[in-house]
Amino acid sequence: MIPAIQSKLPNVGTTIFTVMSVLANEHKAINLGQGFPDYNMSEELIALVNKAMTSGYNQYVHMNGLPALRERLAEKITSLYATAVNGDTDITITPGGTYAIYTALTTILQPGDEVIVFEPAYDSYIPTIEINGAVPVLIPLVYPDYKIDWELVKQKITPKTKLIMLNTPHNPTGAVLGADDIVQLQSIVKGTGIFILSDEVYEHLIFDGKQHESMLRYPDLYERSFVCFSFGKVYNCTGWKLGYCVAPPALMKEFRKVHQFNCFSCNSPVQFALTEFVQQKENYLQLGSFLQQKRDYLKNLMQQTKFKALPSYGSYFQLYSYSGITDESEKDFAIRLTKEYGVATIPTSVFYKNGEDNKVLRFCFSKKENTLEEAANRLMKL
Ligand code: PMP
Ligand code: GLN
Repeated sequence: MIPAIQSKLPNVGTTIFTVMSVLANEHKAINLGQGFPDYNMSEELIALVNKAMTSGYNQYVHMNGLPALRERLAEKITSLYATAVNGDTDITITPGGTYAIYTALTTILQPGDEVIVFEPAYDSYIPTIEINGAVPVLIPLVYPDYKIDWELVKQKITPKTKLIMLNTPHNPTGAVLGADDIVQLQSIVKGTGIFILSDEVYEHLIFDGKQHESMLRYPDLYERSFVCFSFGKVYNCTGWKLGYCVAPPALMKEFRKVHQFNCFSCNSPVQFALTEFVQQKENYLQLGSFLQQKRDYLKNLMQQTKFKALPSYGSYFQLYSYSGITDESEKDFAIRLTKEYGVATIPTSVFYKNGEDNKVLRFCFSKKENTLEEAANRLMKL
């Protein structure tokens, strides 16, 4: 008899990013679905990885990450967010941001713990909470600007609340936390045992002069936070799957216990290369204006279609409403757009546990201008 698995995630299928990318390939559609750039990454960074490999840096580095890279990241954090972090005790290099989130949640959560999750939520959050036996407590961000209703958060806090999940800039909406949100958060967690997991993979992809409200700016928030980052988003190399988690020493000590028996240590030559490359501040400081131009480029083109843009202040993404076109469900419409019009997007309903459908699709604008032009040309036919 072949043994049968009792699924730990009985209600979960294949992630929408894979579903839509496969469909896009099948139909030779322009892929504005899954979030990745279609332009080249830095030749210099590629050369640095080559140099590291040919210089023989091909064996395991320290399980917490190459010490020199962690030191450079600590310097970067101190210069950007004015909080002193120690690369030795507060930073662990991980195989991507998703892994950092998974490990942080696995480190903290006990069965029955409650986790505040704002919806729409990046698709890994809820399954990761559930696989750890904890319970997501879902709070909708307020459509159409996707702000947090802090009064509702206060009502949803119980003695079982273990953690609040944050994501700024936000995927899929492009919303960002403001100084007013931070004040509310500070007053809610003060004097409680509530942790924060802050997904900040889009820290530099922020527009219109807004400031990135990292937990690392606020010592009273950082003392209870795991903050997760991704090099893939900063250096246009999402396929490299390297990131890091930052947390105060006592929290990080436990995180590392879990990490050491999962991936243990990450790709070495890339860490050697990044140690040099992260010191070039202009590479990440110009990212916001670079992506803002792309957001605006697509938005201008889309004015010739029947789609209506919702605001996006950060990330790779902008939501567009199609309520003026059809009342089809987001999923059906996204599939039809891919098959019949050759443009793949992501239905926002997949980021809600109950599939809430506001007739908005997520468009990824981290693409070459001619990719965006071709997509808009196809959508004008609608
Ligand atoms: N969080 C969010 C909000 C994301 O959009 C992504 C996208 N990939 C990640 C985490 C994960 O990043 P990584 O590819 O480094 O795992
Ligand atoms: N973060 C990217 C997105 O939101 C894709 C990541 C993935 O495919 N898992 O589209």
